[in-house]
Amino acid sequence: MIDTAGQTPPQLEEMPSDWQRALAVVAHPDDLEYGCAAAVAGWTDAGKEVVYVLASRGEAGIDGLEPAVCAPLREREQRDSAAVVGVRTVEFLDHRDGVIEYGLGLRRDIAAAIRRHRPELVLTLNHRDTWGPEPGGAWNTPDHLAVGRATLDAAADAGNRWIFPELTEQGLAPWNGVRWVAVAGSNLPTHAVDAGPGLERATRSLLAHRTYIEALTDEDPDAYCRDFVAMSTGRASERFGGRPAVAFEVFPR
Ligand SMILES: [Zn+2]
Repeated sequence: MIDTAGQTPPQLEEMPSDWQRALAVVAHPDDLEYGCAAAVAGWTDAGKEVVYVLASRGEAGIDGLEPAVCAPLREREQRDSAAVVGVRTVEFLDHRDGVIEYGLGLRRDIAAAIRRHRPELVLTLNHRDTWGPEPGGAWNTPDHLAVGRATLDAAADAGNRWIFPELTEQGLAPWNGVRWVAVAGSNLPTHAVDAGPGLERATRSLLAHRTYIEALTDEDPDAYCRDFVAMSTGRASERFGGRPAVAFEVFPR
């Protein structure tokens, strides 16, 4: 919480670590690599299991590439990127990039993924209107809002046998074991993870999206990735004892 008297905002709490399985649900390939992957590297080092679920294949992300050509390329880059931080399972829900709709279909698909993987911790990306505090924060994208909100909702849907009974019929038993949903990139972080041990791998993990990054910027890709990850993990450090940090807004359940 930012305090209005202009004093230093309070320190972020350490993220809970008494869990074994996490599921990260985001809209696009690269959403987890702009910082969050540093936390993931630390967790997989500690023997925890992390699974990635992407609502789309990011096929509308490169101006010069037709979606049909772009989708398999971005899928491959996402799998390579996940492997760098110890994530072996990457799934795609095949919602259409750029026009992902918040609604029952999305909630159902995410609830199904939660039931399949039975995580205690669910991660997602900023579901709020802007990046950084309003006014002045950059406008977020509708895909991130839709997937972030649907993920927060699906954590509860997954545990209720009556909301999507068709999932139970498909053999996916209710899972009411999600203890926290943690939102990366939120304007209102409450917790953080030390990004130091995973920093180098987080940079390489972002660099694995090479085709996307080369289309995005004229900068040298190595320098772009190193600077971006350093900037994103440096932002929360003054609220985390000076350590580079991945900050999350944590919703306990
Ligand atoms: Zn995105």
